[in-house]
Formats: sequence, structure tokens, C-alpha cells
Amino acid sequence: MQDINPGAISIDPVPLPVFTEKELAVSMLRLDRLHPVISGNKWFKLRFYLEEARAQGKKTLLTFGGAWSNHIHATAAACRIQQLNSIGIIRGEEPAELSATLLQAREMGMQLRFISREQYREKIIPGDIAIADCVIVGEGGYGIKGAAGAATILDHANLAAYTHICCAMGTGTMLAGIMNRTPAGIRSLGISVLKNNPALSSQVKALLLHPEQDPVIFHEFHFGGYAKKTPELIQFMNDFYGHTGIPTDFVYTGKLCFAAAALAAKNYFPPGSKLLLIHSGGLQGNRSLDKGTLIF
Ligand SMILES: *Cc1c(COP(=O)(O)O)cnc(C)c1O
Repeated sequence: MQDINPGAISIDPVPLPVFTEKELAVSMLRLDRLHPVISGNKWFKLRFYLEEARAQGKKTLLTFGGAWSNHIHATAAACRIQQLNSIGIIRGEEPAELSATLLQAREMGMQLRFISREQYREKIIPGDIAIADCVIVGEGGYGIKGAAGAATILDHANLAAYTHICCAMGTGTMLAGIMNRTPAGIRSLGISVLKNNPALSSQVKALLLHPEQDPVIFHEFHFGGYAKKTPELIQFMNDFYGHTGIPTDFVYTGKLCFAAAALAAKNYFPPGSKLLLIHSGGLQGNRSLDKGTLIF
């Protein structure tokens, strides 16, 4: 499999008419260019767990997820590249037919272990797994090390050039990392892609170096919930591509960009603001859309 290529990460202009009209300079940090399979932010969240495995001579990364988890898929791919073993503890009984995500994870060498939803809630690891040989990674890469890895996303940008940094949120690990790395004076904002997730703020705060900070989170851009979409979102993603040449995905970055444009239209950002949007990757999610839905 192709190696990770941090040299391909670029910062590209986002010249939407609404940004020009509101006197905003907007750019996008293209983590989607890091790797064709591993969604950019997933690799950043995994990097220090991979390093820990190497440093401690452990041969296996073990993590948790559902049948459609990008994190499971990314962990399998990252371990394949780094010649580590991977174990995915999967929520629910083994289905007769595996999801595409799990099939690919297995093809990349991941050992899949299915546990009941009750056991999954407690994150119970089957007794025959030699956990002493494993580095254990939280669900979705959530955790202190995940946030520390996500903070290094900003090594690829000159922070002095921005007033606001905006990213999509699932577990909030990426936003926590970004807040931990951002000097006072730059605002970090997160766009949650889940519906009704009031625990998100405390989840982020638990990973902050300065937990007295209050994360700025927008909860109203979920388009129906996780991995849900509307024709308006798809239309926006196509228009966005038309103006920028940048592909986005309907689970995360499409919602992020829609939110940035909607907030700009409502004068949320003072004129003269300089925004950096994080393109966290995830484009393989678009494969589930009918052909012709997207123009890219
Ligand atoms: C997983 C993922 C996220 C969410 O990151 P969290 O750290 O869980 O908030 C955002 N964007 C993409 C493309 C992802 O794959």
C-alpha cells in the first residue's frame, strides 16, 4: 500500500462569493492529500499510538468500532503500512455478510472480533487476546494521545496567518488537539456532524491542556444526523467544487464547508477575518453515493 505523504499537504484558497462579499480570506488545509485511503485526520490521531507501539516493541494496535467505522478502516491501513498487526473489536454479533469497511479492514490484515452490544458498551476485550502485546486505542481514536497527534495537523500551517480555525467533529479529538496547539487570539470552532450530542463539549474539555476553556461547537449543521444528507448539502458540495476545485465528503467536510459559508452569510466572522478550514479527508465515504450525484 502507498505510504503516507505529508509533503502533499497544501493550503488552497476557498474563493466562495459569500466569503469575498463579507471580506473574509478563507483557505483550506488539504489533509485529504496525505493518503488515498487513510482519511487525513485519522492518521494524525493514530500517529502517536503507532510510535508508542514502535517504542515499546509492541506488535499490535487494538481498537474499537462499528461496522462502518472509518477509524477501524484507517487503523487497519496504518498498521499495514507500518507492518504492525491490528485487531478491531467490533460492536455487535458477526453478520452473515460483512460491511465493505470491515471486508477491506480484514483484507488489510486486521483481525476482527465481534462482541455483543452489552460487552461493547463496557469495551470488554475477549480473554484470549494477549493485551500485553497491544497498544490500545480508544474508539474513534479518542484520547490524550489522539489529541496530541491531531495537534500536529497545525505543523502544516503558519498559524500567524489566521484568525479562525474551523474543523468538523465526530468525537471532538481533532478539535481538542487544535485548541491545544492554537495560541490565544485565534478562535477554534468545531462543527458537529452528529445530531443531539450534548456530551461533545465535555468530551473535548477532557482532552484540553487548559480545561477551563470552553470549546466553540455548532450543533445545527448535521443535516439529519451522522452520515445523513440532503439535496441542499449535495448541491452545496458540487458548487463548492465548482468554485474551488476541492472535493469534500458528505459525512464531515461538506458539512464543515456549508457551516463556514452559512456563518459567514450571517456575519458571524468580522470583516477582515482569515479562516483556515481543515480538510480532514474522508473522501472514500462518497463511494456510497449513487454515481452522478457529485460532479467530482
Ligand atoms: C473521523 C473524522 C472526523 C472527526 O474527527 P474527531 O476527532 O472524531 O472529531 C472529521 N473528519 C473526517 C474526514 C473524519 O474521518
